[in-house]
Amino acid sequence: MEFTSTLNRFSINPSGSCVLYWMQSSQRADGNPALNEAIHHANESSLPLVVFFGLDSNYPGANARSLSFMVDGLRETSAELERAGIPFVARLVNPPDGIAELARTLNASEVIVDNGVLKHQREWRAKAARLLNVRLTEVTSQTVLPVDAYGKQAVGAYALRPFFRKNLEKVIWDQSRPKILYPTPMPGIERISLSDKDTSSLLDTMKADRSVPPVRRFTPGRAEGLKRLAKFVSAGLAGYNENRNKANLRGCSELSPYLHFGQLGPHDVAEAVMDSDAPQADRDAFLEQLLVRRELAWNLCRFNPDYDSIKGIPRWAQATLSEHADDPRPYLYTREELEAGETHDEVWNTAQREMVATGYMHNYVRMLWAKKILEWSPTPEIAYETALWLNDKYELDGRDPNGYTGVAWAIGGTHDRPWFKRPVFGAIRYMSSDSTRKKMDIPAYRRLVDHLADIELF
Ligand SMILES: Cc1cc2nc3c(=O)[nH]c(=O)nc-3n(C[C@H](O)[C@H](O)[C@H](O)COP(=O)(O)OP(=O)(O)OC[C@H]3O[C@@H](n4cnc5c(N)ncnc54)[C@H](O)[C@@H]3O)c2cc1C
Repeated sequence: MEFTSTLNRFSINPSGSCVLYWMQSSQRADGNPALNEAIHHANESSLPLVVFFGLDSNYPGANARSLSFMVDGLRETSAELERAGIPFVARLVNPPDGIAELARTLNASEVIVDNGVLKHQREWRAKAARLLNVRLTEVTSQTVLPVDAYGKQAVGAYALRPFFRKNLEKVIWDQSRPKILYPTPMPGIERISLSDKDTSSLLDTMKADRSVPPVRRFTPGRAEGLKRLAKFVSAGLAGYNENRNKANLRGCSELSPYLHFGQLGPHDVAEAVMDSDAPQADRDAFLEQLLVRRELAWNLCRFNPDYDSIKGIPRWAQATLSEHADDPRPYLYTREELEAGETHDEVWNTAQREMVATGYMHNYVRMLWAKKILEWSPTPEIAYETALWLNDKYELDGRDPNGYTGVAWAIGGTHDRPWFKRPVFGAIRYMSSDSTRKKMDIPAYRRLVDHLADIELF
């Protein structure tokens, strides 16, 4: 099983002056297999290492909430790296153009990049592979197994699980950062400042959408992510299995924003959980989500070219949804009404408010939330687009393989099977707010959301 892959046909430049790590998805200075690989290459070639990050003003769906979370996390990462003698060069540029230019300026011997499966991430890597004239190597860092290894779209978790079990022994869980043997000061070249007083002006320069403001619920950065992880492992993991199934408010680790931005990696989180003394059933249930379900989502985005569209759902689901396309829909809401959380359904409105105001929605209600959008939209196509649009706009963990797969599962039956037929849904699995009310303490949920929603909403 290959954890690294070469993305172009060039070799290492033997008279290069440094190795470059192009950081995009794994935005951390520790627990990062791509960074570690780059350090090994630099040490073996007796060269310093420089890290590049390309901040793209046109990043799909970026807004003040997601950008400030990312920039604040990068500030911590750059400080960590620079303390270790690894310069961090962030530039406001289209990332593949930026890495190609920096590689020429610094006379890099080779470039190492982390892994990403979304369309724009793959396009960036392919473009950089063409523009560079030295070797570009991608390292599996955001997943624990290489996404290509399974070789095709998995039909469901049951298909991927045995493959996972068989190959987990090949994973190196401890990804502590090796020492860089040839530290170097910052080269005198142009880069953007990541000092905290500059975040706001940086967002202005990037013309960030300010209508989705930063949230206070999640403090960005790896240090904070590790603190949450430690707290969850000591106080939340025992009981996770039952709490999750019962839609308990304590049934979530709330680590997804940190995983999405690569401030935490799956290796960090899995290792902490595996080493804990929580009951085996709880550890297994958590690792099923973090490893099997999460990497199943990456598998979908890697192997299904329509992962972000209703065109990508299974044929049986397409057929059943079109069979029920003309079913009467007792409630119909516009995108604006949904965005404002103005439906007749208190559970749904609370979930929507949680997402809009705090950048996160409780694990269990995400399923109900998307299914109700199907029920209340004029067509499944509109429902699909609306769910993705809201999810990607407001969730701090949005624009992620998990989000595309979550919507595909909830509205499109992906990784699921046909259920009993119902109006509008056809054979897509149905969920009701009443059954959620029976499981979940809704008044407590509402109080929690009120408490966390510390910004003016609508
Ligand atoms: C409609 C819908 C939309 C979703 N949108 C997103 C999204 O934009 N971003 C996102 O990260 N997740 C999304 N999910 C998947 C899942 O709900 C979240 O990953 C989870 O709620 C994150 O909260 P947590 O970290 O507290 O989860 P925990 O229960 O603590 O799980 C730990 C980690 O395991 C992984 N995980 C948990 N559940 C799933 C799952 N069902 N599929 C894949 N991985 C999982 C996540 O990386 C998560 O952070 C969506 C699910 C649905 C049904």
